[in-house]
Amino acid sequence: MARRTGSPFEAAGRHAKARSAWRDIPIEQWNDLRWQLEHLVRTPDALGALLGLPAEELAALRAQGQRFRWAISPYYFSLIDPNDPADPIRRMVVPSSQEDLSSGEDDPLGEKHDQVAPGLTHRYPDRVLFVVTSFCSSYCRFCIRKRNWRKSDAARSRDEIDEAIRYLRAHEEVRDVLVSGGDPLTLPHEQLEYILSRVREIPHIELVRIGSREPVMLPMRIDDALCRVLDRNGPLWINTHFNHPNELTEEAATACERLARLGIPLGNQSVLLAGVNDDVGTLKKLFQGLLRIRVRPYYLYQADPVVGATHLRTSVSKGIEIMEGLRGHTTGLAVPTFVVDAPGGGGKIPLAPDYVVERTADRLVLRNYAGETFVYPDGGRPAEASKPAALDVRYGRGATRALPVLSAAAPVDNDGE
Ligand code: SF4
Repeated sequence: MARRTGSPFEAAGRHAKARSAWRDIPIEQWNDLRWQLEHLVRTPDALGALLGLPAEELAALRAQGQRFRWAISPYYFSLIDPNDPADPIRRMVVPSSQEDLSSGEDDPLGEKHDQVAPGLTHRYPDRVLFVVTSFCSSYCRFCIRKRNWRKSDAARSRDEIDEAIRYLRAHEEVRDVLVSGGDPLTLPHEQLEYILSRVREIPHIELVRIGSREPVMLPMRIDDALCRVLDRNGPLWINTHFNHPNELTEEAATACERLARLGIPLGNQSVLLAGVNDDVGTLKKLFQGLLRIRVRPYYLYQADPVVGATHLRTSVSKGIEIMEGLRGHTTGLAVPTFVVDAPGGGGKIPLAPDYVVERTADRLVLRNYAGETFVYPDGGRPAEASKPAALDVRYGRGATRALPVLSAAAPVDNDGE
């Protein structure tokens, strides 16, 4: 078969060995969703051959079985460098002997506790999570919902969807529905259309959001037919889930472009993962790259203590350190909010570096991104109390000296020292 031109392999020019496994697949097949799903990498033998695994690793993989389901689409697999055992994509989707079943929790966010109908979690006053399938085109080792796809990857039945819709109709306080999974954009078109249209026709639902990793893991899914379904059922918001700059391929960019052209605002939720993206340089490159393809970095999640994935967690302080390396060092649009999901359903709690060095009754001493400190008069104080005065505090990166004082009337030019 002739070597194709314009394929994703040549386009990226990386990871030649893994990609060469599908080198002779015509581009039409490669871009065909059904072909991708029919050729998921899901057996130890296939994985062993593609990654050149040594016999003992292969034996361990066989012994491990599918205790946590694993499957990887050829497209997503092609992003792995088979010569690098520490490859970040590999770490996210290839099962490993580090998956310790004795640590971590099945349902770290306590979603089951607040379940009010099949797939429907109603925890917050005005919004719900609607899990409509447990199927994904590839399975992330750190997924917080692996309990849903451990044994089955089925979509919700029509009866289950109808029961959830009845709950939504009866609860007028719900104005925001997050359709999630698994991955809702893997559903057959008619099923997705049914769900979106039933939700949209409820008068008090103002906002419908979709959480999907398909633009990352199987971007060819974002085709014309799917776009028509989404367009018919708008307005929608989509949050996708890029974790590493190696996921920013031409195919992913095209998928996001298609969605953006429908007028769908695109956000991204990344998870902070040890050995994948736990350094400033990697995340800065990712977030800047996302803006280039019209995706706004929205959240950076602390990885939750889900069973079998504790080896992928970092400390919380690592996340704060990374935020410190981003804020002020690149455009604010490229800086997401770092959040911890409180255990047992406590919700998202934003965390940030502490830029307040000192606080008095009428003024703050603040530290900027470069480590320089400034006195700032607090608002809403009597004029006398907020009268600016030079303080002797730490200045710049370590020196102690009298500071210039900021005031609303006479702003200080900070460009100097
Ligand atoms: S794509 Fe999302 S739902 Fe699916 S396995 Fe990955 S994190 Fe979990």
